[in-house]
Amino acid sequence: MTHSPEMHQIVEAIRQRRRFVLSSHARPDGDSIGSQLALAYALRRLGKEAVMVNKDRAPGPLLQFPGVADIIVADAVQGEFDAAIIMECGDLGRTGVACLDRSFVINIDHHPGNTEYGQLNWFDASAAACGEMVFDLVEALGVPLTAEIATHVYLAILTDTGSFHYSNITPRTFEISKRCIEAGVDPVLVARNVYDSNNMGRLKLFGAVLSAMQLDDTGRIAVVYLDHKMARDAGGTYEDTEGLINLPLTVKEIQAVVFFKQSEGDEYRVSMRSKGNIDIGAVAKQFGGGGHKNAAGCTVVGGIDTLQRTFIDRMTVAIDAQSAGTPA
Ligand code: 5GP
Ligand code: MN
Repeated sequence: MTHSPEMHQIVEAIRQRRRFVLSSHARPDGDSIGSQLALAYALRRLGKEAVMVNKDRAPGPLLQFPGVADIIVADAVQGEFDAAIIMECGDLGRTGVACLDRSFVINIDHHPGNTEYGQLNWFDASAAACGEMVFDLVEALGVPLTAEIATHVYLAILTDTGSFHYSNITPRTFEISKRCIEAGVDPVLVARNVYDSNNMGRLKLFGAVLSAMQLDDTGRIAVVYLDHKMARDAGGTYEDTEGLINLPLTVKEIQAVVFFKQSEGDEYRVSMRSKGNIDIGAVAKQFGGGGHKNAAGCTVVGGIDTLQRTFIDRMTVAIDAQSAGTPA
């Protein structure tokens, strides 16, 4: 278990308070939901009040996990709380939820570049998932690892490591996963709930987007694209694209993927993924976004052809930078 002084300050702050609001980033994912729910269950075991508020609804498959349907979806916090615990957010704006900073803010995160926006900040970029940090916190609070808490910690780890694919994994990732399984998590059920809960529209949408996939001249970078018309024609929604970006990486030669999703007009949400040491988090940062070495994103405005060329250029630099440092 970690002995970080920041975590121990958070333990003290939690012990001294009773009413908590927990929030995480907009467009929630497995790590944000898992971290939030694991901590909410732990706080309730301590007799505390834990209300969860997020900007957006959890993706359909995650609604199958305990407590997820109880998350309040709102643009602002209502009511009085002794502290707001924010997980998985490099800056407070990532929540998309207003008024969290009316309470004492506790910031728990693993994203490089966290802006330390809380009264208490615990930041550990070496954690493969924020859920790993929450696991340590739950233990430090003296709360037993119930099957519900363990399920959410494991959900966070499974999804944030891309099903144990990304280079952020450490021995600790497996140690915590092992403890979760011992505590009663069914890893088959978690994987089925997360990955095998598709609807038909989602599968058709995957087909349409992947059929239109393009490669750069070297065949190392895949570019995928989605606009509202494509989604409508396939009978799917933008929410259905969760996880799609990982599929091009299953091709051996493909080293990195960029996914452009049209928001409105010339505005695009950009998601990127990469293999090994290719740092596409640094690429996202150049466009005002952020993330991790192997998974990052940003929002950009411009003509799609120019944007695609620009991203291919920047990603090529990132790929060449890592090949230069790695013996063949
Ligand atoms: P996704 O591609 O799944 O939306 O995001 C991948 C990772 O990049 C996540 O860890 C997410 O937190 C981060 N990320 C995505 N978009 C943004 C953004 O606009 N700003 C920042 N700071 N991080 C982002
Ligand atoms: Mn995360």
